[in-house]
Amino acid sequence: MSPRQFRRGGGGRGRPRPGGRPGGRGRAADRRGPLTPAVDDQGANGVALAPRELELPPMMTVEDLAKLLELRPAAVIQGLIKSGIFATMNQIIDYDTAAIVAADLGFEVSEAAPGVQSIGQTTDEEEAPLEELSAEELALLVPRPPVVTVMGHVDHGKTSLLDRVRQAKVAVGEAGGITQHIGAYQVDVLVDDQPRKITFLDTPGHEAFTAMRARGAQATDIAVLVVAADDGVMPQTREAIDHAHAAKVPIVVALNKMDRPDINPDRVKQQLADSGVLVEEYGGEVPLVPVSARTGDGIDDLLTTIALVADVADLKANPNRQAAGFVVEARLDKARGPVATVLVQQGTLHAADAVVIGTVTGKLRALLDDQGKRITSAGPATPVEVLGLSAVPRAGDRLAVVDGEKAARQQVALIERAAERESGRTSGDVSLEDIFTRMQAGEIRELNLVVKADVQGSIEPLVTSLERLEEEGLRVRVLHRGTGNVTESDVMLAAASKAIIIAFNVRLEPGASGAAEAQKVDVRHYDVIYNVIDDVRRALVGMLGPRFREVVYGHAEVRQIFPVRKGGAAAGCYVTDGQITRNSRARVTRDEQLVWEGGIAMLRRVKDDVREVAAGYECGILLDGFSDFREGDVIEAFGREQVS
Ligand code: GDP
Repeated sequence: MSPRQFRRGGGGRGRPRPGGRPGGRGRAADRRGPLTPAVDDQGANGVALAPRELELPPMMTVEDLAKLLELRPAAVIQGLIKSGIFATMNQIIDYDTAAIVAADLGFEVSEAAPGVQSIGQTTDEEEAPLEELSAEELALLVPRPPVVTVMGHVDHGKTSLLDRVRQAKVAVGEAGGITQHIGAYQVDVLVDDQPRKITFLDTPGHEAFTAMRARGAQATDIAVLVVAADDGVMPQTREAIDHAHAAKVPIVVALNKMDRPDINPDRVKQQLADSGVLVEEYGGEVPLVPVSARTGDGIDDLLTTIALVADVADLKANPNRQAAGFVVEARLDKARGPVATVLVQQGTLHAADAVVIGTVTGKLRALLDDQGKRITSAGPATPVEVLGLSAVPRAGDRLAVVDGEKAARQQVALIERAAERESGRTSGDVSLEDIFTRMQAGEIRELNLVVKADVQGSIEPLVTSLERLEEEGLRVRVLHRGTGNVTESDVMLAAASKAIIIAFNVRLEPGASGAAEAQKVDVRHYDVIYNVIDDVRRALVGMLGPRFREVVYGHAEVRQIFPVRKGGAAAGCYVTDGQITRNSRARVTRDEQLVWEGGIAMLRRVKDDVREVAAGYECGILLDGFSDFREGDVIEAFGREQVS
């Protein structure tokens, strides 16, 4: 095939990158098109007038390149062969190789910024939506089982439900089958006398779900939201709902503990409606199934309902290609070496396949199913334990099958090279400025936010005003709102959904600040509603003000309380670390809970007003508007500094 024919084959569908922004993101967002139609440099008749611009990531699979070029993988493979490179669809190629093929096809290529759509840095938009596949590719797809995650508030019965479902399978007659814990298992269910399978991820909770997503594994098709019928919707129920919504995963409510005497299902349905989940009975689309994980009542109904929701989602995969999947969990087994549970998403994994998982390679020695039985192959949505890896991979890492161990090692070398180039960036690497740039490039139309505030009274006006903002078709989507400090789960949600966190009069929990740093999530601190709205509006129109970062200067412990005139009190303190400065802001915490935040009115050493007191010294602190100290309270001095 000549380059010219090649060009005609797929070139007409090629689209220039809108705006030609440096450091652009990948193709997934690209497909959605620019906000304002880009001028088509192909001309109306589709004849190439000028080279089309295309940004390529530092690393990509042949399949990825085909999608970027909007060509069939076979065409790209042929193009590679012309340049003397023999590669399969799953094979990873680097920018230089991809650039040769793309240039042959009339593209003017440039290398995208590091961290962009490269191996191991995939986004949840990785899989091509079914409607974008060609008729030929569609014909290869067959229905696959749904993958389900169980979520809900603590003690509402997630673990009990997973155990019960697993037992139900044993009862169906798996010979002596005690399911071993491998992180996922599959059950059989009869729907209209047809045997069906459902795959359950065995680590319940939205934290695990979102952490996977932040690592690029869009693992779950359906979320089962467990709500105890006696306890009703609780904070983590709401979090779970928001996390499922952010991932656009359909929900099935399992109304659990129906065996208990003190239940109130109607109240729960109303609470769910108030939290954005409208069950079918209330005119919504979310099925609700009453169950008891204790007695087993309703479990079959639940499984049938999941199967029906899966039908609506029309889940399909092509089992006849090289396998691709992700790691559910992995560990080092003393006897067997590195062991990983893999969930196959596309294709079929075979014993003896050569694989690459992140930087781990392997020629698979054995495949074991969730019963510990040896199997020879595992198709889509099948959890399988694999042996024979060179090291222990990380949960959420993607697995690809390659042609032989040599190819595997070559790919790892490429991945490591790319990782070096990309060091410092992560999948969650996102800032308000960056998001604005992407919005301008037409890659995204929504600014995702997670809003945390000190009191409920601040959240409602804040979120209402934010959601009302709209600038040139760009709008705000609040993925999650809640009172209390920013938690690690908030950070992971932001990382997974490319969201910014608005921290209104709240701080980051210790685990959350580490995660925010690691994931490079932008947490913005505010104490005035107007400033939040103003900043977000500016972000939407691209006139973002300076970014502030919170800096903690030091901590002092309250050791004594002195009454002062006018009924207030000053705190006699000992500075435990850093320093307390007179003009810093202060927050008082008691048993790790935020009690108050505001300014320092007076700072004294012995009898003198001072500007700062260093660690190891005692001081007297009078706060501006708070005097209800208790011994043991911690006063944190902090400030906000402008980030370049
Ligand atoms: P998780 O924290 O959501 O995983 O909840 P668990 O599965 O650990 O269950 C918490 C508690 O609720 C345990 O004491 C269970 O025995 C109990 N429990 C779970 N499901 C049911 C149920 O259907 N009925 C009753 N009565 N108790 C249940």
